[in-house]
Amino acid sequence: MMTQKAVAQAAGAAPARTVISAEGLNLVYETNDGPVQALKDVDLEIGKGDFVSFIGPSGCGKTTFLRVMADLETPTSGTVLVNGVTPEAARKARAYGYVFQAAGLYPWRTIGGNIRLPLEIMGYPKAEQADRVQRVLELVELSGFEKKYPWQLSGGMQQRASIARALAFDADILLMDEPFGALDEIVRDHLNEQLLALWARTEKTICFVTHSIPEAVYLSTKIVVMSPRPGRITDIIESPLPKERPLEIRDSPEFLEIAHRVREGLRAGHAYD
Ligand code: ADP
Ligand code: MG
Repeated sequence: MMTQKAVAQAAGAAPARTVISAEGLNLVYETNDGPVQALKDVDLEIGKGDFVSFIGPSGCGKTTFLRVMADLETPTSGTVLVNGVTPEAARKARAYGYVFQAAGLYPWRTIGGNIRLPLEIMGYPKAEQADRVQRVLELVELSGFEKKYPWQLSGGMQQRASIARALAFDADILLMDEPFGALDEIVRDHLNEQLLALWARTEKTICFVTHSIPEAVYLSTKIVVMSPRPGRITDIIESPLPKERPLEIRDSPEFLEIAHRVREGLRAGHAYD
């Protein structure tokens, strides 16, 4: 069997500057029911400007992997480097923005106030804070909602506000944990297109967790297929799709071929228990 690194190389991994690298990563949660191995022997390299999707059934360690990169969990063994430094150092250097599964907006702050929060903490001048809030609100099509409170917005709009907040301080890396999972398909298509445009324009590195095969294939330059118990990587697919992707690309033979490979990977990793 090929190692994950060999699989990645065989698939033609781009020689871009590595921004995230995990080697021999293991994470075991101690629970009342005994140890749970959330990540097992994970090796992964993510290059600058990659759009990486993590796909796999519930419980395969997708959130755990993102949380390790974000310094919210400490691995049991193995190494992770973010921009060449530890996740802790990267966190302190504000290397990434994090978009959670739930929007996580403070109910006592307006939408503008929520987006401004990281900028306040980082000490941006007032005028620049206001500029940035306007710019990211526009980016997620929430212009005019700055003074509303989260409870006055739909779930989808709240999620867009939380994306705006993660974009506000121009971190090079965006960690997104099923950000569009709760949205209806039309809104999701639209946000997928916007996210791709944003990614192309800003050359950010994006790590994106999803349950949706079409979403993963549409968005990604690299698709990481995972399987549970223990959580591990079963396939890494380097996408041959061009960077420029109209939604119709989803009907192309190339697209369907990648989707097929993802589906096969998911099936192979499934324990059927
Ligand atoms: P995913 O995001 O792919 O659904 P998670 O990373 O959330 O998977 O979880 C991976 C495994 O680790 C699951 O079996 C889950 O129950 C377990 N797990 C996650 N977080 C914790 C925790 N804080 N304590 C104990 N077990 C956890
Ligand atoms: Mg999760």
